[in-house]
Amino acid sequence: MIRYILQAFVACALLAGCAATQTAETVEASTATSTSALPDQQVREPITMLISIDGFRPDYLDRGITPHLSALAASGIYADMRSSFPTKTFPNHWTLVTGKRPDNHGIVGNSMEDMARPGQKFTMANKDPFWWDQAEPIWITAEKQGVRTATMFWPGSEVELDGKRPSDWWPFSEALSNDRRVNAVVDWMRRPAATRPQLVTLYFDTVDTAGHYYGPAPGEKLHAAISAIDQNIGHLKEQLAALGQPVNLVITSDHGMAETHPDRVIYLDNILPRDQYRLVVDGNYAGIEPLSDDMTAINAAFLKPHDNMECWNKANIPARFQYGKNPRVPSIICLPQSGWVVYQDKPGWMTGIGGGHGYDHLHPDMIAFFLASGPGIAGNGKIETFDNVDIYSLLTHLAEIKAKESDGDLSPFKQALRP
Ligand SMILES: [Zn+2]
Repeated sequence: MIRYILQAFVACALLAGCAATQTAETVEASTATSTSALPDQQVREPITMLISIDGFRPDYLDRGITPHLSALAASGIYADMRSSFPTKTFPNHWTLVTGKRPDNHGIVGNSMEDMARPGQKFTMANKDPFWWDQAEPIWITAEKQGVRTATMFWPGSEVELDGKRPSDWWPFSEALSNDRRVNAVVDWMRRPAATRPQLVTLYFDTVDTAGHYYGPAPGEKLHAAISAIDQNIGHLKEQLAALGQPVNLVITSDHGMAETHPDRVIYLDNILPRDQYRLVVDGNYAGIEPLSDDMTAINAAFLKPHDNMECWNKANIPARFQYGKNPRVPSIICLPQSGWVVYQDKPGWMTGIGGGHGYDHLHPDMIAFFLASGPGIAGNGKIETFDNVDIYSLLTHLAEIKAKESDGDLSPFKQALRP
């Protein structure tokens, strides 16, 4: 579940870097005129829009409730996409916009520590560039190259890096409805050419939230959330078409969702008393630090075999995870089997079937989804499964931005790109 800070978006008006944002009232007011004629009817260049539907599994497209997304997939390309480990929201959203794996971009978890800041813990509300500056997100690179960007939410988009932010950005508010998020994007595209963004991000958290509450199996409430997002996408497409605004849409997710159950809990207290280590993160995986340089006791307790869970010293995490080199990765990582959780105490909210993510990125439950459609994409249907580090290369290609060095490339999309 996305849990980063709930800020009143109207507070945006108080922030110096946020001058171009709108209030809820202007967004709402714009709805009424959203299909009216435009002041400038000249031919528009395609823009690039990256949309994240947090926690959207590829099989959600097969449930007969996503006519708009399915039509977009049919008109372009779509794929199962491998997330990066850990299959958490912040590490993977930062991978999508930097092209780097978590070990290389520094957002190694939703919660993490850094020995350079003893006693501090990164949480998802943190906007201190210290945590974010190991990689440059696409909107900063774009702004440096004169490509105007706008972010309707994205993890890290509120952080000032190299003195820059997106030209337009909103402080995250889970309470801002999906309709208003879409209307804000459409309003940006209603501007004159000089102040219209050429690269836009849009983020939806409601499918992930429903997946956490109800699990990923077919069910009325989860499907209502999926169906609502599908309608938001349909509305967005319709509004952009009414504006005569061509768009290369890249719609993706950060990870999948596995079914969890209160009977599938691994208790850390059964492994080692809690006063003998420091817990950095728990839940769908655990990160553990020793209390002193002497790791003998915690190595003996954690590195032995466990039912339904494997633990590694960070230097020995299997190579396929590509995780463990960054100093922010905890000294010991414990990874339960998909569908199991690891806690000191079972949380009060864990009372029935729900869902979670953070597991092995190659487990089928953790696979994310991808589709791309627009004038820059030829309709090739389903393409081979690829790693999410490659999305950055696709975005920089579509938005005509000179890419920074990354861990991905354009090869998964080569057959589908129009010159
Ligand atoms: Zn997520």
